[in-house]
Order: sequence, then C-alpha cells, then structure tokens
Amino acid sequence: MVYLVLADVHGNLPALEAVLAAAARFDEIWCLGDLVGYGAEPDECVELLRQYRHVAVAGNHDWAALGRLDLDDFNPIARISAVWTGKRLTPATRAYLEALPLQLVVGPYTIVHGSVRHPLWEYIDSAAAAWDNMQGQSTPFCLVGHTHVPAVYTEQSEKRTREFLVQGGSVSFALGQGRAVLNPGSVGQPRDGDWRAAFALLDTEKATWTVHRVEYPVEQAQERILRAGLPAQNAFRLAFGR
Ligand code: ZN
Repeated sequence: MVYLVLADVHGNLPALEAVLAAAARFDEIWCLGDLVGYGAEPDECVELLRQYRHVAVAGNHDWAALGRLDLDDFNPIARISAVWTGKRLTPATRAYLEALPLQLVVGPYTIVHGSVRHPLWEYIDSAAAAWDNMQGQSTPFCLVGHTHVPAVYTEQSEKRTREFLVQGGSVSFALGQGRAVLNPGSVGQPRDGDWRAAFALLDTEKATWTVHRVEYPVEQAQERILRAGLPAQNAFRLAFGR
C-alpha cells in the first residue's frame, strides 16, 4: 500500500490541491492534524479531504477552532485565527473535527499530531525529543506533524537517535528494523525556509518514506487570507516558508 501522509494543512486549499495532484497515485491518505487554522478555507480543505479514503487525527489548531483549548495558550495571531475559524466552520466540518481521535495505530505505525506523550502540544524538533518519544511508542514507527518541518529520526543506539532534516526535492529513506519518528512537513504553512508544500509517501511494501515538495499558487492563498480579514502575517509568511 502507498499512503499519502499529510500534516498541517491549515486551511490552505491551493496547497492541498497541488499536493493531491502531485502525489497522484496512493491508496489512502493519513492526515496528522491541524487541518484548519491560519488559512482562509478550512471547510473547503476538510470537504476535499473527505472525498478520499483517509484516516486523520486532531491537532491543536483543530481543537482551538472547536473551542476545546484555552486560547490564552496561543500567540495573538494564532488566537485571532482560531476565533475566525471557529465562527466560520460549517456544522458538518465541526462534527467531523469533533470526532477526530488524538492518536491512531495502524499496524506498525502510530499516527499523532505532536507526540505520543503530548499528542496536541509537544514539538519533536530534536533527536533528544524524538528519543523520549520513542520510549513511549507502542509501535516501531511514529508519524508526527506540528513542527511544520520535514524530518526523520531513527534509532541509533540504546541512548541515541539520528536526525535527518529533509531539505530540497524528493528525498527517500529506507525504513529499517529500529524505531523511527517521521515528519512529512507542512502542506499549508511550511516553516523550514522553503515555501513549497510538503508531503510524504509511505510505501509499506517497499518500506520507504519519501518526502516531496511541490510548488502551488501561493499568491492565491495569500489573497484569500487577506480578503477574509485574517491577520496579514498569515499571508506574508507563506512566501518565505516561515
Ligand atoms: Zn500546525
């Protein structure tokens, strides 16, 4: 099976459309949370995802839009965006997001937004954080989002992990026998200095994890954010991948 692994779409419909077109052949989508928040088209993104066979978990921005999190824990721009999103969600989108679990296990893969320890909040952004997470994994592989930076962490020895920050075009990794934490990067708001939408293809027969980048009409996403009256920063940052 080939799985299209997506994270942090953040209501960016042009980016999601470009990723779906570029991925082309896959059997199912695995979505690692934060479908909404920041972007201007949360309902449209959820509706598009729902046209595909998929599984998904909730992210902190999904919960914030639902009013399930204390917005004082968010920075001002994220808070304004969450309030805007919460008011805009259709009943169907709201019901869909409310039903998302925090964590899923599919065979040897755990699917979560942040980490196994703190599904909504922990950023796995270092080998040390990945190591800690691995100790709590009930499966060899853990797929995470939340940092908006593509990364691969593999088990190296009893006390260490190896870290690969994935940059550039298509980069493929062979999944070995040890544990791994895998982050596909962000579809709708990359933060690694590369503005292109990021996604991964997981081929379970070949045991490979391949991260891809794809260009999308970023000015379209920016224009829709500005027209919606969302914070201008949400639009400007997309051009820089920050
Ligand atoms: Zn996010």
